[in-house]
Amino acid sequence: MSVHTDQPATVTVLGLGPMGRALAQAFLAAGLRTTVWNRTPGRDADLVARGAIPASSAEEAVAAGPLTVVCVVNYDASDAVLRQDAVATALKGRTVVNLSADTPERARDTAEWAARHGIRYLDGAIMTPTPTIGTADAVFLHSGPEELYRQHRPVLDTLGGTHTHLGEEIGRAAAYDIALLDIFWTAMAGYVHALAVARAEGVTAGELAPFAQGIATILPPLFTEFAAETDAGTHSGEGNPITSAASTMAHVVHASEAHGIDASLMRVIEGQARRVIALGHGSDGFTRIAEVLGRR
Ligand code: NDP
Repeated sequence: MSVHTDQPATVTVLGLGPMGRALAQAFLAAGLRTTVWNRTPGRDADLVARGAIPASSAEEAVAAGPLTVVCVVNYDASDAVLRQDAVATALKGRTVVNLSADTPERARDTAEWAARHGIRYLDGAIMTPTPTIGTADAVFLHSGPEELYRQHRPVLDTLGGTHTHLGEEIGRAAAYDIALLDIFWTAMAGYVHALAVARAEGVTAGELAPFAQGIATILPPLFTEFAAETDAGTHSGEGNPITSAASTMAHVVHASEAHGIDASLMRVIEGQARRVIALGHGSDGFTRIAEVLGRR
């Protein structure tokens, strides 16, 4: 596949952890001239065997083309790479797309730094695991100057999946990322806790799995319904008031602790529900917690 753009089909990838390698591999598979660099040498062997150009320094890597994609553990790491004088100088007039994960504040800070150094900057977030990269299942979020995004979209498209530009405010992709990670990790924490409680009751993970999947399928329509209620501020508890929800949470706490299993996560959630009830919202639905949490 070739990239139809007035830019040469060239890209640099800084950071060759599992995700950086997946990105570089997708660029190579799409026929892009791909230059790679990683702090720790030796992580590029497979990529070089597939045609990647190894750079001996980050400065040399970014000088290889107009677009650099950075994918390292966080923004302390991307700062450590990008904010070296020689790298910043080499990046002047070029574009950086930072696909490392961190907070909206760090994205804004990096954009300010880039602007001060004449570097064109887009921020982004990857919402799917490495095997999805280069396939239709990959999900990328982007924010920053729309024109810059449009210019580099043909190269970004070679990563496969869907790319969504969320707006010019540079922190927007990270804001979505944080909210989505919040869902993912609390759901995963609930899942592994459930495995421990089920096991203590003699239920294997495999036995639970089909029913666990059933719980997961309940969630997508609830997200749509709850979004409408949250944005409208209605928080209807018809069908499942928060008093009833708090009661089932207490069952989880008691059953866990009876087995000596830490139930602090569910205690926190139950505590939030009890607080909402104490504030007089007991007949409201679960999303009232979001409104109460957001009160200062
Ligand atoms: P990691 O998050 O473990 O990042 C590893 C990379 O960060 C390596 O290239 C490592 O270099 C580099 N790094 C760490 N500290 C520094 C530093 N101080 N200076 C320079 N480089 C540094 O692995 P991934 O590749 O999986 O993730 C990269 C990003 O992608 C993360 O922000 C992650 O949240 C995000 N992501 C990952 C997903 C996944 O499925 N893996 C899914 C969605 C997003 P070295 O080899 O030298 O240690």
